[in-house]
Amino acid sequence: SATNGAGAGAAEMVRKKMGSFVGFANLPNQVHRKSVRRGFQFVTMVVGDSGLGKSTLINTLFEHKLYDLNAPRSLANGSSLNGNANGRTIAIESKSADIEENGVRLKLTVVDTPGFGDFVNNDEAWKPIVDNIDSRFDAYLEQENRVNRSKLMDNRVHACIYFIQPTGHSLRPIDIEFMRKLHHKVNLIPVIAKADTLTDDEVVAFKQRVSIFQAFNKVHQRVIVAYFLLSPSTQILNDIAHNQISIFQPPIYDLEDEETIAENEEIQSKVPFAVVGSDTFVTTADGRQVRGRSYPWGTIEVDNEAHCDFIKLRQMLIHTHMEELREYTNDVLYEQYRTQKLLSMGVSQDPSVFKEINPAVKQAEERQLHEAKLTKMEAEMKMVFQQKVQEKESKLKQSEEELYARHREMKDALEKQRYELEERKRRLESGRPPTPDKIGSVSA
Ligand code: GDP
Repeated sequence: SATNGAGAGAAEMVRKKMGSFVGFANLPNQVHRKSVRRGFQFVTMVVGDSGLGKSTLINTLFEHKLYDLNAPRSLANGSSLNGNANGRTIAIESKSADIEENGVRLKLTVVDTPGFGDFVNNDEAWKPIVDNIDSRFDAYLEQENRVNRSKLMDNRVHACIYFIQPTGHSLRPIDIEFMRKLHHKVNLIPVIAKADTLTDDEVVAFKQRVSIFQAFNKVHQRVIVAYFLLSPSTQILNDIAHNQISIFQPPIYDLEDEETIAENEEIQSKVPFAVVGSDTFVTTADGRQVRGRSYPWGTIEVDNEAHCDFIKLRQMLIHTHMEELREYTNDVLYEQYRTQKLLSMGVSQDPSVFKEINPAVKQAEERQLHEAKLTKMEAEMKMVFQQKVQEKESKLKQSEEELYARHREMKDALEKQRYELEERKRRLESGRPPTPDKIGSVSA
């Protein structure tokens, strides 16, 4: 029957897509040294106004694996992705799910944050979000300080998807303030929400207005400094013109593989990603079943690059740069936080404590010690060498002097002989007989 046919088709589609759809099965390829066996933890935060489609997008990003029949715990079960009954998120909530793809296990955690409209006073709206990020850093720091560090739970926020309202105009001051509060603590990924509510031209114009001038950040290499410019009509232009907001983008520096560079450039060109979310299937005019949103004039397809940037976002977030996001969180963002935290605790006063807590510092110190040892050895070798040279030189000088002395002696002796011979010659010429013993000594 028609119903059976549709059901079989849908099941087939899910299974077919399961192999490569979500894409985190590629994680072991992204990871060079960490163990696959333990699985991966990935925490993503979503920030933006209520109703901007945060929950829907997360569902859309990970949906096919959430429908996995083998996974008993699933984000798709029940209403767990909705913050509360009326679908609005009023408090920070985190939801976790263990999902598996091609034998790779991912513990996904989504941190959903309240939107601006949910606060009586928006001035402080960012505070609970920053506190949440900090407390996750603290929890990690606390684990690192434990004696047994074999099983570290990494619940730090690895990516923060920031939802920009699809106004088509410009960024609001509150967006800039939010991003500035967050960008030193998380990998910021700005997206234009509900891009289907804008026309193609509007999206292009909007992206241009939310201009991003890319500059190579020499310190961090992977983060691009973005200047978000407001349209000239906005009075606060001057206030924010010099706001530099760091956002995460796939690196194109220090790469050799042409293909990867091109791929990353392609992703970069889409920032901020104009996304459409939908976890339901609709039928297109030509009869295809697609994830999308239906309108009287047609269908917007989520998984169609001609329709929106969802695919590029998912590619970066999950398929190609998930490990990069995790690494950057650990190596740069967390490191900054920890250093500051320890400094504020006065730990720097006691280097031994700092070293205890911080393996990087310990390593640096060991390297320093090693280098000092090498320098000392080199100095010692130089000294010994100089000593030897000096000894040799003085020996040479001594034998030189001896040679001179002998030379002088011989010269003196010869001089003396010459004088005696001349004396004898003179005597012979003057007719006087030479002294017999003198003749003997000369002839000898
Ligand atoms: P949240 O409060 O940010 O989590 O937003 P939800 O994901 O709950 O979505 C709020 C409403 O917007 C729901 O009715 C969604 O169906 C709708 N929605 C979600 N994503 C999109 C989108 O990309 N385009 C459009 N037009 N509507 C969307």
